[in-house]
Amino acid sequence: MPDPRRATPRTDAVLADPALLAAAERLGPALVKDAARRAIEQCRQGRVEPGDVVTAALALLPTTATTVRPVVNATGVLVHTNLGRAPLSAAAVEALTEAAGTTDVELDLTTGRRGRRGRGALEALARAVPDAGAVHVVNNGAAALALVTLALAAGREVVVARGELVEIGDGFRIPELLESVGARLREVGTTNRVRLADYAAAVDGGDVAFVLKVHPSNFEVTGFTSSVPVEQLATLPVPVVADIGSGLLAPHPRLPQEPSASATLRAGATVVTASGDKLLGGPQCGLLLGQAELVEGLRRHPFARALRVDKLTLAALEATLTGPVPPVPAGLETDAAALLERARRIVAALGPDVGAEAVPSVAAVGGGGAPGVELASAAVAVDAGWAEPLRTGPTPVLGRAHRGRLLLDLLAVPPSQDDAVVAAVRAVAAGGA
Ligand SMILES: *Cc1c(COP(=O)(O)O)cnc(C)c1O
Repeated sequence: MPDPRRATPRTDAVLADPALLAAAERLGPALVKDAARRAIEQCRQGRVEPGDVVTAALALLPTTATTVRPVVNATGVLVHTNLGRAPLSAAAVEALTEAAGTTDVELDLTTGRRGRRGRGALEALARAVPDAGAVHVVNNGAAALALVTLALAAGREVVVARGELVEIGDGFRIPELLESVGARLREVGTTNRVRLADYAAAVDGGDVAFVLKVHPSNFEVTGFTSSVPVEQLATLPVPVVADIGSGLLAPHPRLPQEPSASATLRAGATVVTASGDKLLGGPQCGLLLGQAELVEGLRRHPFARALRVDKLTLAALEATLTGPVPPVPAGLETDAAALLERARRIVAALGPDVGAEAVPSVAAVGGGGAPGVELASAAVAVDAGWAEPLRTGPTPVLGRAHRGRLLLDLLAVPPSQDDAVVAAVRAVAAGGA
């Protein structure tokens, strides 16, 4: 028996291969060295021929220098928190690629002096919500709420209804967020009911900085319930801060229960806070919209610097606001018949042996808002046992289990990914799963 270790090529010889040198240019030497080391180890164990070590190393290389991998969202959840919420529009992707180099993000090219950071994005946001006296953008919705609370209510009271003490996700809770920046919570009402008189009594008795209205964006309370709309809260002698969550800028006909920034400001909210990567369909960011002096004060607050968004976010946000309709809002408008037609085409491409079927389905908006809203959709139904191989394949496809089958819902899948879905399902079917 020849000792395979004797034939194992040396690391420097493998790394000198032109294909691996080119890969090191693209991905950096560390990732390439790691792949080479692993391929050499496989050779030592006799699992790879000495002549195939370079090929094995190339196969072990990641396609990009990030471990973040694109996946196909066939869950039927339009805004999926674990899948990075809103996918950006092509225009926003292009904008952030453009912004990735050196840019004029904080320079006025006509005067050569410092310019207002992210002017284009802020002007686009202001144009989109004319009811806002001023606008500001921070890292996310939670940061927007934290900033306004820190600026107005540190050491003071915030009045909030018990039914609106929301847990956002991943264990983060709005009441704890408010307390973490020094506000004291004054809870009013019960889980299911609160009246204007409850708020009025709380405002009367204490050192109240503002009344907070939180939109329950990820759950619904039905039955014997009552809450107080912003119109009525606005009659109280303190500011009203409204956390609308979803980032809908104007009312949407398909989501009548979902508050919009414009309508909430018109109803009398002093400041509205929202996320940029939910129903607005943009990059992760937090929007602050409202009374000019107050929002300007937030922008100049010392802590605002710690919540500042980067040039990539500003560029993507501007393109989201001014460019073509992004995937999330477009998904709200999708015609179920057209989706069923796509599902049929995918099933036809898969062929009869796969046992796939085009079926109508019901999709949801998701963590982005509009709980309980059902969106008519269509799906490709396949074997329930394929969920794991599809999820762990080279192009991960995530579906949804439904009545003993796996539904690949097309509402959140761009048509450009249909071929990838076909290839992934074919590969799994051929694998005899
Ligand atoms: C999503 C949400 C938040 C948190 O926003 P992030 O952008 O995730 O920080 C806060 N409040 C409400 C009502 C939400 O829906």
